[in-house]
Amino acid sequence: MSQSLISMAYIAAAILFILSLSGLSNQETSRRGNYYGMVGMAIAILATVLNPSFTAYGILIIALVVGGLIGARAAFKVEMTQMPELVAVMHSLVGIAAVLVGYASFMDTTSTLTGSEKTIHEIEIYLGVLIGAVTFSGSVIAFGKLSGKIGGKPMLLPARHWLNLCMLIAVIILGYMFLKPESFCCCSGSGLIPLLIMTVIALIFGVHMVMAIGGADMPVVVSMLNSYSGWAAAATGFMLSNDLLIVTGALVGSSGAILSYIMCRAMNRNFISVIAGGFGGGATGGTAAVIEGDVTPVNAVETAKLLLEAKSIVIVPGYGMAVAQAQHAVNEITKLLRGKGKTVRFGIHPVAGRMPGHMNVLLAEAKVPYDIVFEMDEINEDFPKVDVSIVIGANDIVNPSAMNDPTSPIAGMPVLEVWKSHITIAMKRSMASGYAGVGNPLFVMENTRMLFGDAKETLQAVLKELNK
Ligand code: NDP
Repeated sequence: MSQSLISMAYIAAAILFILSLSGLSNQETSRRGNYYGMVGMAIAILATVLNPSFTAYGILIIALVVGGLIGARAAFKVEMTQMPELVAVMHSLVGIAAVLVGYASFMDTTSTLTGSEKTIHEIEIYLGVLIGAVTFSGSVIAFGKLSGKIGGKPMLLPARHWLNLCMLIAVIILGYMFLKPESFCCCSGSGLIPLLIMTVIALIFGVHMVMAIGGADMPVVVSMLNSYSGWAAAATGFMLSNDLLIVTGALVGSSGAILSYIMCRAMNRNFISVIAGGFGGGATGGTAAVIEGDVTPVNAVETAKLLLEAKSIVIVPGYGMAVAQAQHAVNEITKLLRGKGKTVRFGIHPVAGRMPGHMNVLLAEAKVPYDIVFEMDEINEDFPKVDVSIVIGANDIVNPSAMNDPTSPIAGMPVLEVWKSHITIAMKRSMASGYAGVGNPLFVMENTRMLFGDAKETLQAVLKELNK
């Protein structure tokens, strides 16, 4: 394949990636967006493989078979609820790839670069290894936290901001030593020692940054690491002089940064302090409120009666709906109630579930009409006019203490104000807390009714009653 044909293929792939991203921004076009991405990636791989300068087909085939098998196994085996962990693992792979490519480029003895070109290449290597190492260790800790292998409580070291600042200064000084090793006798004329020390510092920074983050702030970390992995890929592209990798990395990096910004707004966290890795603040270090009061349990028959008496109903799904795979039962009930002339709408919190857009994907899969699905900001004001709110396996995203308890670990996070509706029916299996490990006063409020049990089973029982 000629070089100009390869460049054309790279441009086509880059355009398809852009179309893919724009498709994914909307539920109706997201399927098409996925197809664009797949075709773009197939073109990119083909163009890379058919590059005349590429000869290592043996290694490539082994890598494709091993990587393909692991990827296919993960895709079949991983549950929808485990997706964030999988994404964190993938980010860590991008990070470690950038580190390895950086070291390989540094040790490449065939390089003929001199003068300013050599310096620019060395800066690319240094930055690539730095971003890659932070992404790698941060993503490994994020995986641990998301999978529950590491506790969700933030690890707040006493002088953590100073520690971060010291690490930043050390990285800058080491960068100078890396570029001018001949000026420092401790470097023995090679930039390897400063590069190695910087890598260790970057790994520690990645661990420290994510360990400092409390449970409910994890969505921001996931999207931020997504952005970092994009920049790590772009840095790899610079090191390998691969334009497509630079463009793709920049697309992932910038879209991840935009998502982080949206998540920060949704969680009421400061974007700049997130980027600096020093967020979490005093709020996430708070203690969980102890909930006192009596719950008012209801059964499926009483729930069906409340729904039949209501005119305006809002359904708030959360992580428990995903666990129970209750979305189809939810859709059946929605159809039935709408058929009886009731106004049924959905209220979606930006961090509901375990990944951005989690609830929207499940509702779309169950074929819930898009026009009755509303964002938190669009529906929050309406709750005082709502007769019945049904909370399906949600907890943190409907916790009033986020708004009225400044000591709560989730203080400041906007939530869906379901308690303002006439009656709230909360469906869950027990009184256990949600992801942030915080008690929820909603469950003991006077106008709240608790419908205990697995969401799918209880909804099917309610549906049966509604059909009678
Ligand atoms: P939560 O984790 O706060 O609560 C889910 C609730 O679902 C639990 O209290 C649980 O209670 C209940 N539940 C679990 N299984 C079932 C079942 N089979 N049937 C019925 N109920 C069930 O989820 P939310 O969606 O309210 O909030 C999301 C949380 O996840 C936030 O803290 C957010 O910050 C965090 N997060 C979000 C990410 C994202 O990108 N969206 C990523 C990482 C974290 P019980 O055990 O009693 O049934």
